[in-house]
Amino acid sequence: MRVWCGLHKTFARFEQGFYRRGVAVQFTILGSGSAGNCAYLETNETRLLIDAGFSPRQIRMRLARIGRAPETLHGILITHEHTDHIAGLAGLAGKLGLPVYCNRATAEEILRVCESSLDFRLFVTGSAFEIGDVVVESFAVPHDAQDPVGFVLRTASGSVAFATDLGHFTRLVGERVRKARVLVLETNHDVRMLQECPHRPWSLKQRILSRHGHLSNDAAADGLEQVLTEELQHLYLAHLSRDCNRPELALSVIRGRIDQLGARHIEVTVTRQDEPSPTLVL
Ligand SMILES: [Zn+2]
Ligand SMILES: [Zn+2]
Repeated sequence: MRVWCGLHKTFARFEQGFYRRGVAVQFTILGSGSAGNCAYLETNETRLLIDAGFSPRQIRMRLARIGRAPETLHGILITHEHTDHIAGLAGLAGKLGLPVYCNRATAEEILRVCESSLDFRLFVTGSAFEIGDVVVESFAVPHDAQDPVGFVLRTASGSVAFATDLGHFTRLVGERVRKARVLVLETNHDVRMLQECPHRPWSLKQRILSRHGHLSNDAAADGLEQVLTEELQHLYLAHLSRDCNRPELALSVIRGRIDQLGARHIEVTVTRQDEPSPTLVL
C-alpha cells in the first residue's frame, strides 16, 4: 500500500476562483443508522460514496433511485472499519476496481476482515487531498476503531462535513466542521432509552456511552452549539440507534437547541436507515 496524496492543483484552482459558486453539487444520504451508513456526493467532476455500509445490491438499488450507478463512481471514502460502514465495500469496490480512500490502520483492518484485494489510496489522518474537483480533509474522531476519521468535503458550492461515530465532540472536531455548509451529525441515542433498553447487554451500553462510543442527542446538541455559524444551512441527524432513539426525539432535542440559539435558518433532516434522504442540491 502506498500513501497517496494530491492537493495543490485543486487548492490553487479554488484560490484563483476557477470554480464558480453556484455550480451544482448534489448530496444524498443513501441511508444512515446503526445498521448501515452510506452517502453520495456528486460535483461537476467527481462522484463519491462516503462509507459503504450496505450490501452491494442495496447500494446499487439506492443509487438507482437517484438515477446513478456504482460503475460511474470515482472512489469510496471510508471513515472506519466497523461493519455498518464497510459491509458492501469488498463486493462493490473489489468487483468494480473502485479506489478506496482510507488511512493505513483502517486499510489493514479491512484487509484482515475482507480478505479481498482492493485499490487502496492511503491518506494520513489529518491530511487533505483532492479527488477531481473535491478537496477532502480528514480529521481524527474519538471512537473505538483502529484510526477513525471524520471528513470535510470542500466543493465549489461549499463544504459537506461528517461527524458520526464519535464518543464525544472534541475541540478538533469542532474546529474542522465549523463553517461547513452541510453537517452530518451523529444523534445516536437518548441516554435514558439506552440505559433502560432491554436488548443491550451492560457491556455494550458502557461501550456506547463511553468517550469512544457514540454521541447522544444531548451531546450532539452541545456539539452543534459550538459550531453554529451563518454558513451552516443544512443539518442531517445521522446514525440513529433503532432501539435506543426515535427520530422525533432526536429532532426535538436538536430543534429545541437551535430555537434557543435563534438559528432558524438551518434546515434539519433526520436520516433514515431504510431509505435515502431527499437529494440536496447545493
Ligand atoms: Zn463505528
Ligand atoms: Zn457506525
